[in-house]
Amino acid sequence: MFDLTKEQLKNLYKIGENVIDLYDKALEDIEVEFKSYHQIREYNQLKVLNALQKERISDSHFTNSTGYGYADIGRDSLDKVYARVFNCESALVRPHFVSGTHAIGTALFGNLRPGDTMFAVTGSPYDTLHSIIGLTGEDNTGSLKDYGINYRQIDLKGGKVDFDSMEEILREDKSIRLVHIQRSTGYGWRNSMLISEIKDVIERVKSIRKDVICFVDNCYGEFTDTLEPTDVGADLMAGSLIKNIGGGIAPTGGYIVGKSEYVEMASYRLTTPGLGGECGSTFGVMRLLFQGLFLAPHISMEAVKGAILCSRIMELAGFEVLPKYNEKRSDIIQAVKFNDKEKLIKFCKGIQAGSPIDSFVQCEPWEMPGYEDQVIMAAGAFVQGSSIELSADAPIRDPYIAYLQGGLTFDHAKIGILIALNKIINE
Ligand SMILES: *Cc1c(COP(=O)(O)O)cnc(C)c1O
Repeated sequence: MFDLTKEQLKNLYKIGENVIDLYDKALEDIEVEFKSYHQIREYNQLKVLNALQKERISDSHFTNSTGYGYADIGRDSLDKVYARVFNCESALVRPHFVSGTHAIGTALFGNLRPGDTMFAVTGSPYDTLHSIIGLTGEDNTGSLKDYGINYRQIDLKGGKVDFDSMEEILREDKSIRLVHIQRSTGYGWRNSMLISEIKDVIERVKSIRKDVICFVDNCYGEFTDTLEPTDVGADLMAGSLIKNIGGGIAPTGGYIVGKSEYVEMASYRLTTPGLGGECGSTFGVMRLLFQGLFLAPHISMEAVKGAILCSRIMELAGFEVLPKYNEKRSDIIQAVKFNDKEKLIKFCKGIQAGSPIDSFVQCEPWEMPGYEDQVIMAAGAFVQGSSIELSADAPIRDPYIAYLQGGLTFDHAKIGILIALNKIINE
């Protein structure tokens, strides 16, 4: 590695010689892995570019609408661009979604009715969905359960979907209306679901019940592969704009994409029946949503490269990691198991110290809304809570796993990871 950088790391960041040695070795190991990801990046860049060109986007699409926001051409065109990128009929991309959770909740509430069953086939869904479903939280909050919508779940078996149980339940329970598939790991010690695996699940579901909606939580998955779940049969999908697809530029928002009939039902939940997606002024954010999408294939890959480095260097330092640096990925998450609360907290504090924003603050575990355990979050981001920017978070529970993601530039991700490892080993 470049000697001047090495001097900076030692002098400016007090990184120990032992950590720099691990870094040298890790860099050597990971470089071959980057090639296939660069190909994915290039493919997706052309996909996005072509979608923008086909929809003839110009700066008149960046105007600011007010009030009801009828006929906001920027908003309506971005929906079309997303539908092209995701190779599906329809999209609802809105700054009005406060988060990915909100977009997912909107898709579920919009499409499920009393007596229906939601069937999760990739194990327990992401923590913030539990209060939507009604698994946790108070009674009478208006959860799916409060509306008489049932929930079933099967756990992964050896990290894979348990097809036998899935098929049996689908055959026997006619109330199942929607199958929930989570692409990313969430706070779980498991691999992300590859597109080929998602395809397999959807094909098996459809071979038994054509009328079941195959829903995919695509958070953290966008642009980590050349295909998206909607390319392989997903009917409905949702995600966050302050993760991969916002490219670090979108200030807030979420998206729902898929078949028109399902996206439309979701739009009636976002606003009201009758209004759907035709209302909603955009406060001048449209340029940022377009530009973020344009940058997203590149930025997502910077994040993946950071995750690969983290995986290798932490493994070399003796920690269990998932996935390994040379395993195929379907999201930008890197999990590191510490088996030790103090090391976990040091790691997160190190990532915080390496941030461009709020590097001087100490992050501490706290009771975050929507989560059952205390959570520590290292996030020194330009966009509050944005996790396409370098961030690490962890529920404070045994075996003390940190989830690292993001990094708008690989160079920054590297430094954050080195500071974090240095804290654990040398402080
Ligand atoms: C991030 C995430 C969500 C939504 O989280 P928000 O913080 O509400 O955007 C949902 N599912 C998964 C798998 C996620 O990673």
